Amino acid sequence: SFENVGFIGLGNMGSRMANNLLKAGYKMTVHDVNCNVMKKYSDMGVSTKQTPFEVAEASDVVITMLPSSSHVLNVYNGPDGLLQGGDLLTPQLFIDSSTIDPQTSRKLAVSVSNCILKEKKENWENPVMLDAPVSGGVVAAEAGSLTFMVGGSEDVYLAAKSLLLSMGKNTIFCGGPGNGSVAKICNNLAMAISMLGLSEALALGQSLGITASTLTKIFNSSSARCWSSDSYNPVPGVMQGVPSSRNYSGGFASKLMAKDLNLAAASAEEVGQRCPLTFLAQNIYTEICNDGHETEDFSCVFQHYYSGKSK
Ligand code: NAD
Repeated sequence: SFENVGFIGLGNMGSRMANNLLKAGYKMTVHDVNCNVMKKYSDMGVSTKQTPFEVAEASDVVITMLPSSSHVLNVYNGPDGLLQGGDLLTPQLFIDSSTIDPQTSRKLAVSVSNCILKEKKENWENPVMLDAPVSGGVVAAEAGSLTFMVGGSEDVYLAAKSLLLSMGKNTIFCGGPGNGSVAKICNNLAMAISMLGLSEALALGQSLGITASTLTKIFNSSSARCWSSDSYNPVPGVMQGVPSSRNYSGGFASKLMAKDLNLAAASAEEVGQRCPLTFLAQNIYTEICNDGHETEDFSCVFQHYYSGKSK
């Protein structure tokens, strides 16, 4: 039931997601602060607007795909922001797919539901919001095979499902507002720590005389098996077609992993949860980035952190 889709944040991920919505036949209105990106879309015949507010005025649903919490808050609450219309908004649904902290997702969901619709649509009284971060990265965004982790009301999730499936192949309902963001940061936290644990074990094994390939074979048929060992091995030469086999290019940048660990650490602190390994992982990834490897895939920790002997 959503014909007019607004999209804000046409970067590495957002541009590919918006292109899949265009392919699916949605009428799109887009905005980005980057003028070159805007020109690309207007040259394609897509309606472009100078402000988030103007996008909102043209849309039934608005999707945001922005770098971090501060950008999302700015686009929603800033001057000429999505909620500028205050108590008379056009869109009935707002979907934020950025990876941000759950506390911000929850605050935004409240701000949205405090607004009123300009025209009542079907049985929607108030505008509503879903947090719907993704996993899959640029390759999955391009192929339309992202996984969406969705927080909000279940009815709204069901109403938005076919829209999300134009950009992805899986949608998972995670519970109330902010729970999509919780799922996303917890997934990446577990992934970071398993990559560090695996790298540490493979580096120690090599130092003690066993090859990484042999040790990986053992792990993959033993209890140390994990995604990092059997699908994304960090040691060059062990697996083909993964970032470690191409100098850690392409993939998930260390700076994005550092950002996601910062979100997990901040959220842990806010709820008073003990997360000692999160803090260690955060320090290691910050060091990797400060040493100049911020654009390399996060599996580069094996090479840059573990493979030399201790300083
Ligand atoms: P990106 O930096 O490539 O794109 C962000 C876009 O937002 C840019 O085009 C930028 O100009 C635009 N932007 C910034 N501030 C704006 C504002 N105030 N108004 C309008 N536009 C604005 O980032 P990305 O890689 O596309 O990632 C987007 C989000 O998705 C992040 O939260 C990231 O953590 C998450 N994510 C990324 C990946 C990945 O592999 N790249 C995977 C999963 C999730």
